[in-house]
Amino acid sequence: MSAGYIGRLAPSPTGALHLGNVRTFMVAWLRARSLGGRVILRIEDLDHPRDKPGAAAQAVEDLRWLGFDWDEECVQSGRLDLYRDAVRRLHEAGLAYPCVCSRRDVESAQSAPHAGEQLFYPGTCRGRFRTWTEAQAAKGSAPCWRFRVGDDAVVAFEDAFAGHYEADVARTLGDFPLARDEGGAGYTLAVVVDDLEMGVTEVVRGDDLLVATPAQILVARALGAKRELGYCHVPLVVGPDGLRLAKRHGDTRVAAYRGRGVSARRIVGFLAASCGWCEQGEEVSLADLVPRFALATIPRRPFAVAEPGAVTRIMV
Ligand code: GLU
Repeated sequence: MSAGYIGRLAPSPTGALHLGNVRTFMVAWLRARSLGGRVILRIEDLDHPRDKPGAAAQAVEDLRWLGFDWDEECVQSGRLDLYRDAVRRLHEAGLAYPCVCSRRDVESAQSAPHAGEQLFYPGTCRGRFRTWTEAQAAKGSAPCWRFRVGDDAVVAFEDAFAGHYEADVARTLGDFPLARDEGGAGYTLAVVVDDLEMGVTEVVRGDDLLVATPAQILVARALGAKRELGYCHVPLVVGPDGLRLAKRHGDTRVAAYRGRGVSARRIVGFLAASCGWCEQGEEVSLADLVPRFALATIPRRPFAVAEPGAVTRIMV
């Protein structure tokens, strides 16, 4: 990793930015900046039913207010031609096929599959239809596109934080979905196409997406990636129940703290302390943290916010 480093922040506008997203974005941003690298902000707005109007603009505003900056910005919904072209190339190479199976399988193509949510698909539609139009006629509605996983598709990689990881994609996931319909794109396809096209060198994100990575590596290879991306999956912020921070744990939205007069330096300091980069209670800016950043001091366990209401009291 060096000055050629290109990282990205990839918020999904499915809800407001909260302490959990911010901590992960801090790691991603500081990792890039501490290596003299570039940062791309990519709004991942392909999850239509779950996307909230105004959430993307709010995320950008919250990130700027917290002190994040970036060198490039893009929105996935403006890049559908690229995803469509990737599917066409994969289909021509015999690595993607149309599938008429159930709605549930199709839905899973649309969201980032968080830990434990993977569906196995046994390849029922492999070799059944020559074209998407043929599958559409058989189904009477839009089929989805699936990736054809090789029979011995064991993928292994060294994660910069999580260490060695491997998965037998053929046995655990099977032929996973690429796109919900002819011109759309699911999470896996879109992130891979974008990371390759934008020259991203390392993906830093929450470790709930570790499980999604082997499929992404297979798609990248199938699209002719000349080099393997680096990965760095960091532990999430969780609530008292051990589940990742969500609305039910109380209001930890950046906008809510800001509305109560909590400063950006206080929020950044609170999360930086949880990563070992400053003392608890210290107020720091993101820029202050660049020389202090280290992956090694981040605890290996999730950061448990025992009582989110108490966090609010600490910060106000
Ligand atoms: N947009 C995805 C999410 O918010 C993250 C995707 C990624 O980092 O690859 O879950």
